Amino acid sequence: MSQTVRTRPEGSARALSEAYDTALLDLDGVVYAGGHAIVHAVESLGVARDGGMRLAYVTNNALRTPDAVAEHLTELGIATEGSDVITSAQAVARLIADQVPAGARVLVIGGEGLRVALRERGLEPVDSAEDEPVAVVQGYGGPELPWGRFAEACFAIARGVPWFASNTDLTIPSARGIAPGNGAAVEVVRIATGAEPQVAGKPLPPMHRETVLRTGAERPLVVGDRLDTDIEGAFNGDVDSLLVLTGVTDGAQLLAAPPQHRPTYVDADLRGLLTGQPEVTPAGEGFRCGGWTATAGEDRLELTGEGEPLDGLRALCAAAWTAAGDGACGLDGGKALARLGL
Ligand SMILES: [Mg+2]
Repeated sequence: MSQTVRTRPEGSARALSEAYDTALLDLDGVVYAGGHAIVHAVESLGVARDGGMRLAYVTNNALRTPDAVAEHLTELGIATEGSDVITSAQAVARLIADQVPAGARVLVIGGEGLRVALRERGLEPVDSAEDEPVAVVQGYGGPELPWGRFAEACFAIARGVPWFASNTDLTIPSARGIAPGNGAAVEVVRIATGAEPQVAGKPLPPMHRETVLRTGAERPLVVGDRLDTDIEGAFNGDVDSLLVLTGVTDGAQLLAAPPQHRPTYVDADLRGLLTGQPEVTPAGEGFRCGGWTATAGEDRLELTGEGEPLDGLRALCAAAWTAAGDGACGLDGGKALARLGL
């Protein structure tokens, strides 16, 4: 990686929706959670789009087709076309198409999203290892995927057929708790075969490439809630990123982030698209943002001042990331974060 190590969040005098031409938005934990839109998401996205920002939705979930995702978003009040949605199924279909003959048969362990994406690349989805597939592709198949599908994958892989995975997220959030995701299903086949799949999804380059090809974005901003997929994917693609705190990442994880997990900007929710971002500036031994000053002590992070909690978090990021350099900060930020209510 050629990027310099980020040691503090950036400022922006302009609203992010004006400074960037396209938002590449993660879905779960950013736009919706379970079946419900996240607070401020619908109106913020509407304002950003009315102001001229292109909105694209980038998901590692390969089960649903882009049209099905667009329909769900539209129901939530965010008018969306299938062409505004990029899935890891599309990214893995392109990855496969680059390596096999046109029209080749591909054994599918997964759902409709994978089949549609393969056909879009001129490949023929098949269901059995006896159908002489030239590739095996595995994507999230939902709760109804029969165990026998994994056996088909293993039979083909044992014959030397190359294996691909849409993504390797180990878990998938559900209304009743954390469910096993495609990464867990991939582990089943990995353990049984000893083989290694080629993977397309975030944070890997095939997904970023698919997104840039489909959106034509010139100045994209990745917007996500996960450090090891969304933010690391942006880092790998050398693209700026906005972390929102409506999903799985909390303040302590952000302060401990190694360089590839440090976002360009951090904000509470998608209202952050509509505003500028405050500068974080050196102040004495530490860093100031708004009314807060953060410093790295012997074994913990110290925070003084008052004001907007997010400004305090931004100042703490600068103190923690600067102290950590190209590693991960081990200083205790618990007391400082508690003061911010984060
Ligand atoms: Mg997410």
